[in-house]
Amino acid sequence: MNAGPACPLCGGSAPKTFVRTWREWSLWECPDCGAGFCDPFREPGPAYYEGHEGLYAAAVEETTDPMSFEYDEGLARLTRTLPRGARVLDAGCGAGGFLRRLRAAGFEASGADFNPRRVRALRDLGFEVFEGGLPDFAKTGPAPFDGAAMFEIVEHLTDPAAWLAAALSVLKPGAPFVLGTPNRDRTFDPFRGPGMEEVDNPPHHLTRWSAPALRRLLERAGFEVLECRPLANPLPLVQLMLRNSLRLGLSARAAGTAAPSSSAPAAAPSAPSARAKTTAALVRAKEAVLNGAARAAYPALRAAGSVLGWQGTILFAAARRPS
Ligand SMILES: [Zn+2]
Repeated sequence: MNAGPACPLCGGSAPKTFVRTWREWSLWECPDCGAGFCDPFREPGPAYYEGHEGLYAAAVEETTDPMSFEYDEGLARLTRTLPRGARVLDAGCGAGGFLRRLRAAGFEASGADFNPRRVRALRDLGFEVFEGGLPDFAKTGPAPFDGAAMFEIVEHLTDPAAWLAAALSVLKPGAPFVLGTPNRDRTFDPFRGPGMEEVDNPPHHLTRWSAPALRRLLERAGFEVLECRPLANPLPLVQLMLRNSLRLGLSARAAGTAAPSSSAPAAAPSAPSARAKTTAALVRAKEAVLNGAARAAYPALRAAGSVLGWQGTILFAAARRPS
């Protein structure tokens, strides 16, 4: 029997549980630390993220992002714990969606990110942003923070333990830390269909977390874990999943018909045909119906989910540096 590769996170040698393959990767789970990981195990590098700017931006930038509910949860936790004016670090701040929320809530918000263009844009908005990863930022010896956040980062890293150790090191004793990451034990999967499957698979996401595994990772880094649980899927996410699962091919057809011809890149885009307009109108009508249906069914779905133990898409953890 194939015992699988050594665990790249804990080095544990117990036989790994094979999960599935995805393109050239195989996915495994480690019985020692509980983490899910891919083999081969390596970060795709900045070029990958530059090439997937659209996908990556949507995950952090849009205020209408269906995943932004983890920001709400994190902000609620920080505002309960910290006074206005407290210094909070968002490690892996991306386009600054959470930085803006922190500032609006009265915090002094700082960030760290790899993307130089985003760093410049955020500095132009007056945010203090370090260009690079959290371990490098920690080595610069910043003044300790009153709180920190890390959303949708841990699953991208080859060394999440080093990042959590760095997070711990830049916090004052007793300071809160909030973290969000996809839940591999989710009952329903929004990451399906063309373009979406890439989101929660390698090389985009290298590790996969369950609530117990994430708790263990935080504890091993020295955090005191206050809670670690899946968040219930909010209505916009349920609506997105319903639209994706009932896709009739109309959207793809409308996009295909309306796309400018690649043979005439210099020409002004031609007006959409009457047929494309009709198709687009049908798509909008279908989406409105599905959104309405999801809205009507949502309270019953929430109740059923709590009875049946459905797990949400995102894991949320709140922890603190021990006093
Ligand atoms: Zn392990």
